[in-house]
Amino acid sequence: MTMISIQGKGVSTGVAMGPLYYYQRAKSTIRRYEVEDVHAEWGRFKAAQSKAIDQLGELAEKAREEAGDEAAMLFETHQMMAEDMDYEEAIENLIKEEKLNAEAAVTDTAAQFADMFAQMDDAYMQARAADVKDVSSRIIAALTGVVQGGIDSPVPVILAADDLAPSETVQLDKTKILGFITEGGSGSSHTAILARTMGIPAIIGVGNQLKPEYEGRDVIVDGSTGSVVLDADEATRNVMMAKREEQLRQRRLLEELKGQENITRDGQKIKVFCNIGNPEDVPTVLSNDGGGIGLFRSEFLYLNCSDYPSEDYQFEAYKQVLSDMGDKEVVIRTLDIGADKQIDYFQLPKEENPAMGNRALRICLNRPEIFKTQLRALYRASAYGHLGIMFPMVTSVWEVKEARKMCEQVKKELDAEGKPYSPDVQIGIMIETPAAAVMSDRLAKLVDFFSCGTNDLTQYTLACDRQNNDLGRFFNPHHPAVLRLLKMVCDNAHKNGVWVGICGELGADLELTETFLSIGIDELSVSPRAVLPLRQKIRETTVSAVKEKVLADLLADENAL
Ligand code: PEP
Ligand code: MG
Repeated sequence: MTMISIQGKGVSTGVAMGPLYYYQRAKSTIRRYEVEDVHAEWGRFKAAQSKAIDQLGELAEKAREEAGDEAAMLFETHQMMAEDMDYEEAIENLIKEEKLNAEAAVTDTAAQFADMFAQMDDAYMQARAADVKDVSSRIIAALTGVVQGGIDSPVPVILAADDLAPSETVQLDKTKILGFITEGGSGSSHTAILARTMGIPAIIGVGNQLKPEYEGRDVIVDGSTGSVVLDADEATRNVMMAKREEQLRQRRLLEELKGQENITRDGQKIKVFCNIGNPEDVPTVLSNDGGGIGLFRSEFLYLNCSDYPSEDYQFEAYKQVLSDMGDKEVVIRTLDIGADKQIDYFQLPKEENPAMGNRALRICLNRPEIFKTQLRALYRASAYGHLGIMFPMVTSVWEVKEARKMCEQVKKELDAEGKPYSPDVQIGIMIETPAAAVMSDRLAKLVDFFSCGTNDLTQYTLACDRQNNDLGRFFNPHHPAVLRLLKMVCDNAHKNGVWVGICGELGADLELTETFLSIGIDELSVSPRAVLPLRQKIRETTVSAVKEKVLADLLADENAL
């Protein structure tokens, strides 16, 4: 059979393959008729409503066991919807005033509410249209005694449907499902949320590209790209299978290593934290067992807004990350724009060399009103967790002093306003310029921690533009100049009782894990998916056995490239 490629929107990552199967939904035709005893009919509705609410309670428990509290909440929301006063009143009117039978009254009300939700501007509210239909079909099923259909297949399948209601998703036998494809749906629909929490790849919005006559054909879905391939040719299949292998390897790692310490064979511990760009990244940090957040690139909040984000807007975002992370450490980096991250509303003058221009802390110190808004939001949020504030692109001692002064001013203001903040906020800086590395003995006296931004440190040390892919062998983050600077920073930090991490991409480079452990790095902050491979590497290392050689290699003639 010829290969067919279909593009949808991936809403739950992972690659899966199997036969395509269309969801069988038991469709009952709703009869409409006029009732004589409207009170008895209202009683029928109330009985069905309470049966539906009981079922939803059971489903909430099932979802809680399978996918946690967030999934359970969906059904608790449905319970509330089922007894929503406006919804119930609309049904009551149709039964008592129009003498309509309960099934038809629920059907009409569901359609009316679903239309209302669908017409709202907010995508989240639009997605609620599916929920009200789902709750209503449950009540109708209770009225008519019809049971929802399932998967009638002896082998696991890739399940296709026009759309799947959350209750349909949770009732399905998970051992039979390898992935979901729906014609409609939205990324914020509860089905997408459930699929993500259950770790099942899901693709939505394929429209009518997927046809019922494809049933039974072999299909591969890639939930990260949204691609659906039927009867893949050999090359496509190999690429997707390699991706799947990698994913399975991650899963196995997860099972083996989750909850384990980041400790070497000879007992040296190191923290493995995560880099994030949005509050929505936190669940992935937690599911990959990240020990904290070592770098929250706050400029993404600014990049997602069309004007300067307000103090309250930022406060809510920081507060969400801090509260979601519980008692784990969270390092939020202050605004790092400029260079490759340009934002129109900042109206920065065009520069010949933006990477060496007006960027990051330089902008903040030159435009204190912007900096202060962010610092106020950060300090206010600090009351909700374990916060570290970190300044990017430092080159001089005076910059850190000035930034710290701003922090003191902000704390005074908050004191005067009676707004709470944590007294234990740690202050740190990024070491990402050679100047900061060289001056780290002095800088260490001003801060609680250092975090080495090896992406920029490599670029500035080697005078190699990190954006320029053509520099090839000239751009070498393993260059001894970079590694020696890291060792120097580490030594200076420790002499002054300051902890030191790496939050650039190099932190996840397993070829250098032994080096980082040997020079005594305290924390590595990496993308969430890199946590467990790194943990595995750390647990396989015996630092005492490699340290001497690693340190000698930093100075060895043959390595002086
Ligand atoms: C770095 O420079 O290494 C770093 C972590 O910051 P960014 O990549 O955001 O510049
Ligand atoms: Mg940087």
